[in-house]
Amino acid sequence: MKPRHYPIIAAIVAFTTFFVIILARIFPHYSAYILASFLTVNTLAIVIVLMYNFIYLKCRTSIETGDITDIIEDLNTEIVLWTNDFSAVFLNRKLRALLGITSSDFDNQEILKKIFGLETLDEHNIKRLIDGKCDESYFQDADNYEQCIIWSTSLLKQNKKCSLYFSTGFNLTEINIMQKQLSESHEKHNLSMELSEIGILISQGKDNFFASSEMIRMLGLNSNLISFSYFRSLIHPNDRTTYDSYMKKISYSTGVNSEVNSLELRVKSHDGSYRWYSYRFKAVKNATSDTPIIGGAFLDITQEREKDILIEKLAYVDEITEIANRNKLVKIGQETYECCVTLDYSYWVIVLDIDRFHIINDSCGYEAGNKLLRNFAHNLYKYISLGGLAARISGDNFAVIIRDYGDDELPRKTVEAIQRDFADFAVNEFSSHSLTCSAGYSKLPDNGDSFIDVLEHAEFALKSSNEKRSSITAYSNSMHDAIIGDNELEKALSDAIDNHELRLFYQPKIEIATGKIIGVEALVRWIKPDGTIVQPCSFVPIAESSHLIGKISEFVLNEACRQNMMWQRMGYPEIIMSINFTSYDFYKKDLRETVFDTLIRSGLDAKWLEIELTESLALHDVDFALFQMNQLRELGVRLAMDDFGTGYSSLSYVQILPITLLKLDRSFVVNIETDNIAYEIVAAVIKIAKLKKIEVIAEGIENPRQATILRNAGCDFAQGFLYGKPMPPEQIQEYFEKNQTERQVF
Ligand code: C2E
Ligand code: MG
Ligand code: MG
Repeated sequence: MKPRHYPIIAAIVAFTTFFVIILARIFPHYSAYILASFLTVNTLAIVIVLMYNFIYLKCRTSIETGDITDIIEDLNTEIVLWTNDFSAVFLNRKLRALLGITSSDFDNQEILKKIFGLETLDEHNIKRLIDGKCDESYFQDADNYEQCIIWSTSLLKQNKKCSLYFSTGFNLTEINIMQKQLSESHEKHNLSMELSEIGILISQGKDNFFASSEMIRMLGLNSNLISFSYFRSLIHPNDRTTYDSYMKKISYSTGVNSEVNSLELRVKSHDGSYRWYSYRFKAVKNATSDTPIIGGAFLDITQEREKDILIEKLAYVDEITEIANRNKLVKIGQETYECCVTLDYSYWVIVLDIDRFHIINDSCGYEAGNKLLRNFAHNLYKYISLGGLAARISGDNFAVIIRDYGDDELPRKTVEAIQRDFADFAVNEFSSHSLTCSAGYSKLPDNGDSFIDVLEHAEFALKSSNEKRSSITAYSNSMHDAIIGDNELEKALSDAIDNHELRLFYQPKIEIATGKIIGVEALVRWIKPDGTIVQPCSFVPIAESSHLIGKISEFVLNEACRQNMMWQRMGYPEIIMSINFTSYDFYKKDLRETVFDTLIRSGLDAKWLEIELTESLALHDVDFALFQMNQLRELGVRLAMDDFGTGYSSLSYVQILPITLLKLDRSFVVNIETDNIAYEIVAAVIKIAKLKKIEVIAEGIENPRQATILRNAGCDFAQGFLYGKPMPPEQIQEYFEKNQTERQVF
């Protein structure tokens, strides 16, 4: 019974007493009975109340009664009420549900020990519980999950016999699980960072730096708390300015979040070496501070960078000389060109060619050739100033870019110095006086619309030099038109070759003494679809400066052999077929094989083929020329020295070369009737040739007088308009037939 019920009980007692007195007055005869009954009932009621109260105190009445228990029952936290003698224990719904208890019948002590995590319920433990000194308790719930509760106990009621305690639980189970999950995810995060080798650096201001464990490992830091200045000191000095400018930029960026930036930095790593890192970072601003938080991820990219360097090396460095290659020259050159345009200054581009480099390659071997190239390349650096470059642009071609300081003679002086160095090297290392180099040069940006343009003009200047050795040629604008014309012609010629527009004309060669035809010279003609005949002097030099001459010569060799063989098969007298070779054809390494294969294919005997070489061609490189000539002679092919007398060779060269025929140039013949000196020279040459058993032919004979003088001087053969102009095959066949019957002797 609760105290608040006492007034009601008092009122009931007062009312029943009043009622009993009224009854006793109404029924005076029965008043004794009425009073006795009343007293009995009251006594019984008092006894019942006393007993009830006694039971309540002794058992659980006080707990089960009143508002507190109702509230406690419904509270969403674990609550237990217990008496110090454990006679009464109340568990609220939440706790009961946790423990899976449905009835109120359970072992009080066991349940208290379980939930408080105590071995025993002795006074000491209870005191610790009450004083809040017990640790969190762990116990298995009804579903066998481990629960963790911190209990807070307070005394609720106390009387002489027992004390009632109120324990509220603070369930940490969920928090523990979360914490565990958090720490697991933290570990996972750390692990993934470690495996992905990404270091994290988070900073706010100059001193608030945090480094992830992977970052600590990468940089060999002592702790995760470092300062901005310390971190900055680890950055490679060359990369610090970039780093600073980025930091400045994002620190002052106005938005809440900056863009993700990325840059590549070298940072000193744990072993003291600088390693390349890709640094991706962004700044975040929060409401509480003006200083942004800068978070960044570092990824070690040293290996990739090393690969890039290797790739760059492969792409931009010449393998043999280890100086820049053409790609690099064009890249740097274009940058220089653009700077020249913007900043109004200029550079020279000099293209250098080692004259007859193949001589070294072929006679001394590739190692010697490479040594020569390396030396030539490295020597160029002597002449390069700031912003300049030296590069090997193809086989034996080099280019240098040098700054122009207003001296127009600088390229020439530079080339002359390079030529001197090269000559010294050639004498010292190769005991050769014939190694020289030539150059062409142009100006940046004046001589072209782009660097490539300027470079090509320098190359053009080099090629257009008439001198074959040690030439130095400046590009001039007047060359431009010629280039355009030549380029168009080159294209048209290339098409003409593919469209089989080339034909061979044949000019007879006559034995002066008998007037008998002994051979023909095959002379190429380009016959356009409209019938126009283009003479070789209009296209052979252009074909020579491009790769096209190779194709032309291949055609001439094949066609001439085929035609001669065909004439032989047709029953015409056996004659010598002469063809003309350029330096390009003659110095080819597979010359012997090419000629041999053609002869085999056509079936022509080698003795019916004659190759005409010019004097200057043979003098390019006497040693190699000798080698090639001997190779051809071994095949049985005849060799003629064309245009003799036009060059500056001496007769002594003629004597050492294995030629079979000497062709006196037309210039001697033209003047022979009037010019005594010309006659004397011709006569002397013929004499020497005879001694060496070399036959002599005079070309360009146009009249019988010339023919007579030459025959009297001992000349064996003659070629010229007097005997016949170059003519197509059908026409020369008629000539053969005519020549067999009517020979003209002068
Ligand atoms: P070349 O080898 O000295 O040929 C002789 C040139 O003199 C020919 O000119 C011929 O037509 C010309 N000629 C011959 N007799 C006389 C004459 O009595 N008077 C005059 N004024 N000229 C005469 P063409 O055919 O125009 O050839 C010129 C040059 O072109 C040749 O000089 C040769 O160096 C080159 N050439 C011609 N065909 C070929 C070829 O198939 N391959 C190569 N690489 N060069 C060729
Ligand atoms: Mg010729
Ligand atoms: Mg000639």
